[in-house]
Amino acid sequence: MDLRKYIRDVPNFPKEGIVYFDITPLLADPAAFQYTIDMMAEKFSDYKADKIAAAEARGFIFGAPLAYKLGIGFVPIRKPGKLPYDTVSVSYDLEYGSDSLSMHVDAVSAGEDVLLIDDVLATGGTAEGMIKLVEKAGGIVSGIGFLTELGFLNGQSKLNGVPNCHLVTL
Ligand code: IMP
Repeated sequence: MDLRKYIRDVPNFPKEGIVYFDITPLLADPAAFQYTIDMMAEKFSDYKADKIAAAEARGFIFGAPLAYKLGIGFVPIRKPGKLPYDTVSVSYDLEYGSDSLSMHVDAVSAGEDVLLIDDVLATGGTAEGMIKLVEKAGGIVSGIGFLTELGFLNGQSKLNGVPNCHLVTL
């Protein structure tokens, strides 16, 4: 199945001159969504994983069903102030400015292998933040899986050599 057909290009969103890749058509198509999770399970299962961690909001959409399918736990990574228990947090650089991510302190145990999942690898800032967060909590990031990689933004350079793969290159 050609998943590219289910990703819509939206010019000038969120700003003039930016093309936004909208994955909602893929989510709305049951065969395409099922195929995506099945392919992720096949391609990303090379990475040893005790748990999957993913950041809100779109990372949850793919991370949670993949955790279910692989029979492993799911860890939500959220913006600060959203999680109810004690958290560990990191700041990371964005193209313009910075942002923060948080995770419960006991979500990952020391030495646990964690597979990170997100929908899009763009500049790599978000993935870099997720790697820092899991490592700060004592986990080992065994791999990162994306639905799509925007190759022209060179997000790979931010991944610190962590093995990664994706289903669709844009
Ligand atoms: P990065 O931090 O620049 O790599 O951006 C990646 C994050 O921004 C991901 O969590 C995506 O959800 C979101 N993102 C960036 N560009 C797009 C896009 O074109 N479509 C959908 N999400 C995007």
